[in-house]
Amino acid sequence: MSMTATEKLFTIFDQSSTILQEELACTYLEALVETGDNLFQEKLLQDSISEITKKRLQKEYAEVNLASYSSEEIRRAYQLAILKGMKGTTQTNHQMTPDSIGLLIGYLTQKFLGNQERLSILDPAVGTGNLLATVVNMYEQVSDVQSFGVEVDEILIRLAYIGANLQRQQTEFFHQDGLASLLIDPVDLVICDLPVGYYPNDAQAAQYELNATEGHAYAHHLFIEQGLRHTKPGGYLFFLIPNGLFETEEAEKLQRFLKDTAYIQAVVQLPFSIFKNNQAAKSIFILQKKSPEIKAPNEVLLASLPSLTKKEAVDKILWKMEKWFKDNKNEFK
Ligand code: SAM
Repeated sequence: MSMTATEKLFTIFDQSSTILQEELACTYLEALVETGDNLFQEKLLQDSISEITKKRLQKEYAEVNLASYSSEEIRRAYQLAILKGMKGTTQTNHQMTPDSIGLLIGYLTQKFLGNQERLSILDPAVGTGNLLATVVNMYEQVSDVQSFGVEVDEILIRLAYIGANLQRQQTEFFHQDGLASLLIDPVDLVICDLPVGYYPNDAQAAQYELNATEGHAYAHHLFIEQGLRHTKPGGYLFFLIPNGLFETEEAEKLQRFLKDTAYIQAVVQLPFSIFKNNQAAKSIFILQKKSPEIKAPNEVLLASLPSLTKKEAVDKILWKMEKWFKDNKNEFK
């Protein structure tokens, strides 16, 4: 069987990362950053490596012409290498957003935002950049796309930065706490696979309405507030949330805050089958920031996606969504 373009490129990322990992005595993901940078800059950037290693790497790189790959092929190959590097070592909260979810979020953003001539997108907890890159690639036909990613973890943001370079995306990255002040103007679209748990920086949390009354605040609540601060009036926010978001003692405060600042558009529950267990299951939570010109949707779209292999059931949900868009389309630009 012949290899697809994505498999071929993955093999090159994988083999060259393994070579560099051994030579530099670093992790696979650090080596992936190095090899990605070599490929992007079309030169060997590691001074300290032996002549034999140089030759082995040059042989790998000679096999690849990045210009012949689409951005999506590059993203998928890079994503496979990241998945390999994360296997068994990465805690759940740092994991990359899976493709099935990224593609669905991208599809939904297009349904909600409609045709745009220009678009600005922010992911305030961008991780490896996979979710943001998936969505940005879906807007290839929009000539003016500005994208921004914020991430606190150094290796993840380096992966995101190199990934964006390889995919020819102009994303601006900020290596910092996504809940500290951001030097980013409000955007049309915020997307975020929320880090779930307590936020340890109480002084920073005190800057938020959604700070906890006692003890540490929930990072995922603060990220929703931060997202709304950085969205233009009328702009949209797509969050991947834990299903139990509204079941904690802080939920009432969150609900009140959302009522004042945004219109809840939709809650799309993802199939349990794509998560390790039912407790880990998530939903896509879609908000529109309030503005004097827009009204609330007639009704909130509530959908629960069946396993994507059940075609009939999926068609039924898609039909329900289409109908919802029709009934509520006056709300959209
Ligand atoms: N969408 C990402 C991707 O495709 O790789 C995955 C996001 S992951 C579920 C959540 C991310 O939030 C992690 O990368 C974690 O390092 C980051 N994070 C957690 N707390 C943060 C903070 N205070 N500021 C910025 N990033 C943070």
